[in-house]
Amino acid sequence: MDINGTGPHLEVCPNCGGLEVIHETTGWCIPCTLIVFPDLKVCATCGDLFPRKAQVDNCWDCRKEAWLAKHADNIETYMARGLSFTAACEQISDDIRPYCKNCGDEIRGGRSTTNFCNRKPECRRASRQFRTLRQQGLTPDDALAIATERAFVLVSMEGNNGSIRPSQGGSI
Ligand SMILES: [Zn+2]
Ligand SMILES: [Zn+2]
Ligand SMILES: [Zn+2]
Repeated sequence: MDINGTGPHLEVCPNCGGLEVIHETTGWCIPCTLIVFPDLKVCATCGDLFPRKAQVDNCWDCRKEAWLAKHADNIETYMARGLSFTAACEQISDDIRPYCKNCGDEIRGGRSTTNFCNRKPECRRASRQFRTLRQQGLTPDDALAIATERAFVLVSMEGNNGSIRPSQGGSI
């Protein structure tokens, strides 16, 4: 039953009786589907349902597509050098390793969502602080700002404490 020909395909939801876009997995409209599946959320791009736990607005398919679109040039470059499509994608995710938000070092083996390295005490401290603040309900941005700021204050206080140690860390 296509109402206006060009718009989204609308059908009567068997649960609420409203004329809605019906989700193909549940057969119900999106709002009704979400009531039955509180663990899901709706993709901002395609309207698909995906686990609510993911801290993103789009389903994996859309995110994958967006990622591929974003890196299309690099994928082409690598494939022109003889890499397979999969190898090119792996190479690119290797290229875009995250950097520690506290000290700026590259995080080896980290995912793009990793915020801190675990090689320095002050970074581990910032990371713990960040997790605590997030649990207290702060946004990632706010938590990050506070965590890195506090770690910085702690470090400079240690430095002014008379207990000045020769540049430790050995990260040079
Ligand atoms: Zn409904
Ligand atoms: Zn999607
Ligand atoms: Zn660090």
